[in-house]
Amino acid sequence: MSGEGDHRKMTRVGGDDAPRRSETVFVASKENVAKANQQRLFAGLAWLVAIGLQVYAIFFILLKPPVQMGLLIGIIAVNLVLALVGSWLWKKANRLDPASEANPTKFFIQNQLGAIMAVLAFLPMVIMIFLNKDMSGKQKGLAGSVAVIALLIAGIAGVDFNPPSVEQYTDQIREVEDLTGKDFVYWTPSGTRYHLYNDCSHITSARTTEVFEGSVAQARELKNITELCQRCRDRVLKEKEAALPVPEEMPVEEPVGQE
Ligand SMILES: [Zn+2]
Repeated sequence: MSGEGDHRKMTRVGGDDAPRRSETVFVASKENVAKANQQRLFAGLAWLVAIGLQVYAIFFILLKPPVQMGLLIGIIAVNLVLALVGSWLWKKANRLDPASEANPTKFFIQNQLGAIMAVLAFLPMVIMIFLNKDMSGKQKGLAGSVAVIALLIAGIAGVDFNPPSVEQYTDQIREVEDLTGKDFVYWTPSGTRYHLYNDCSHITSARTTEVFEGSVAQARELKNITELCQRCRDRVLKEKEAALPVPEEMPVEEPVGQE
C-alpha cells in the first residue's frame, strides 16, 4: 500500500493506462461446455479402448507363447492411432472449455492428460516386451522399438505446449476490449495472430484468400491463435491518439497504409 513516505519507485510496465475490468472473467458458453464434454467423452473412450487392447496384448499375446509378432505390432499401431485421436480431441475440448490456473495440479493434469494417457497406454506393454522370456532377442528388439517409438510419438503429441487457461483468455479478451471496445477480431486460416482491422496489411495480401471474424476465444478454439497483431495494436493506439482533441490546430492527416 503506497502511503506517505513510501520509498519505492513505482514503474508501470507496458505503459497501458487503461483500467482492468476485474469483474469480467472469461466463462465458456454452455454450448461450448457441452461440446467440450462430448469431445472429452470420446477421448476417454479412445484411451479406454487403447488400454483394453494393451491388457489383451500383455495377457493373450506376450504371456501366451509363441508370441504372435504380427498381432502384437498391429495392436501397437491401433493403440497409437487411438492415443493420437484421444489427445487431439482432449486438447480441442480444453480450448473450448479451458481450465483455471488457480489450481496448478488440476491445471497441469487437465492440460497434459494426453501425454499421461500415452504413457499409460504403452509403458506397461514396453516393460512386458523387454521382460519377456519367450521372445528372441531379435523379436524383442523389433517389438520393443516399435512400442517405444509409439510411446514417444503419442507422448509428445499429447503434451499441450501452450495450454489454454481461463486467466489467459480473460487477459486476451480484455486486451482487445481495452483497445477497440469490443471482443471482435479477424484471422486467417494459416495465420498465427488475430487482427483488429479487416484491412490490416497482413491479411489483405494476395496470399490471403479467406478471413474469419469472431471473438478472441473463437480464434483460439478454431486455430489456437493466442497473439494480437502488433501492427493492428499500434494502429489503434495511433488512431486513439489522433482522436484526442487538439486545442490549437487540427492534426495533419497522414496517408493511410504507409509504414
Ligand atoms: Zn493486423
